[in-house]
Parts: sequence; structure tokens; C-alpha cells
Amino acid sequence: MTDGTVLRRQIVDAARHLVERGLNRAAAGNVSARCDEGFLITPSGVHAMELKPEQIVFMDMEGNPVQGALKPSSEWRMHRDIYANRPEAQAVIHTHSDHATALACLGEPIPAFHYMVAMAGGELIDCAPYATFGTEELSRNMLRALGNRRAVLLSHHGVIVHGKSMDNALTLAEEVEGLARQYILARSIGHPKTLPEDEMVRVLKLFRRYGQKDDD
Ligand code: 13P
Ligand code: ZN
Repeated sequence: MTDGTVLRRQIVDAARHLVERGLNRAAAGNVSARCDEGFLITPSGVHAMELKPEQIVFMDMEGNPVQGALKPSSEWRMHRDIYANRPEAQAVIHTHSDHATALACLGEPIPAFHYMVAMAGGELIDCAPYATFGTEELSRNMLRALGNRRAVLLSHHGVIVHGKSMDNALTLAEEVEGLARQYILARSIGHPKTLPEDEMVRVLKLFRRYGQKDDD
């Protein structure tokens, strides 16, 4: 398990990176990392560019803030529920990135219009039904639509992803935004066909060994 000081730094850097890359603005979105006995999460309503490592809140798995002077992100339930249900998740990132959010506002999933959709771990990136931000209902809807994948759109809201490391989650957050952008572009000039299920299954298998990775 990575040291808390390192995780706090990683969270602050990730939150800044999301703003610098145009994936979030001001205090929109939130970032967390799993740690011993719980998780570390960004405080609510603090501008990412002003965030300091000591402002990151430590919460236990029941959702009690154990350490930190500031209130935790209003979306701590979604983060906690991903850590509780997905043992491989080490980092969670929620954004309001423009193209993913535009699709989410239509309540539409991202289908297998491109093989890279498999990067999120399945044949599509689903869209969870709307519920008010910060509620248990939103978290329940999110978990159901996430299934065993690593990314899900949130109707009329944004997108949430998890990864086996902070870098991994950041890469996926950027990829989902890129895919949403490509999908909107394709839809604006025609009707992209979706790849057949057996092809996506093949791609999912190939991704397990893609690049410098051994089978995981
Ligand atoms: P917080 O500032 O409370 O993390 O809320 C931002 C957000 O994106 C709510 O969905
Ligand atoms: Zn949000």
C-alpha cells in the first residue's frame, strides 16, 4: 500500500492535471485513492488549482471523515462504493468533461463504435440514470451501470472511472473523454456502426497483454 503522503500528493497532482487538460473546471469533479482502512478524497468545493495535500480528507469505509479539517467531497459515497465493491480499484476519478457529459445529458451509453471502448473493460460504456449529486441513489445507479467495467457516464452530470493506480485512472478519464468526442464527431457526419460482440471479446482479450503488460 502506498504511503499516505505520497497518495495525498498524487491526488492533488491528478486534480490539477484534470483542470490543466480541460477535463474539469474549478471545483467540479473529485479524486480519491484507496489507503489502509479507507480512502483519501478531495475536499468539497475547493478549486483544484488551490488544493493542498493537507486538505485531502481521510475517510473510513463507513463514510466517516477520520482526519481532515474540511468536509469531504459530496460524492464520497460513489468513491466509497467503488472501493467496497471493486477490490482492484486503487483510485477513482469523477469529472464533468465536456464530451462525455454531453452524451450523458442525452442519457446515452458509448457503444462499441471504436475498439478502444474496450479500454473501460467491456463492450460499451453505459450511462447511469439520473439522481441528485451526492446521494445514495446516485451511487446505487452508478454501481449498477458500472457493472464489472471501469468507467460509467452519469446522466445529466458527468463520468466516473476507476483504475488500479492513479495514472491508470487518469489515462482512462482522458480516454473516455476522447472516445466521447470521437463518437459525437462520427454521429455528426453519419451513423457509426458498432463492432460485433465477438470482435470486442477478442479486443478485450488482447488488451490483457497489450503493450508491455503480462497477462493479468
Ligand atoms: P465536490 O466539490 O463536493 O467534490 O463536488 C463536485 C461534483 O462534481 C459533484 O458531483
Ligand atoms: Zn459531479
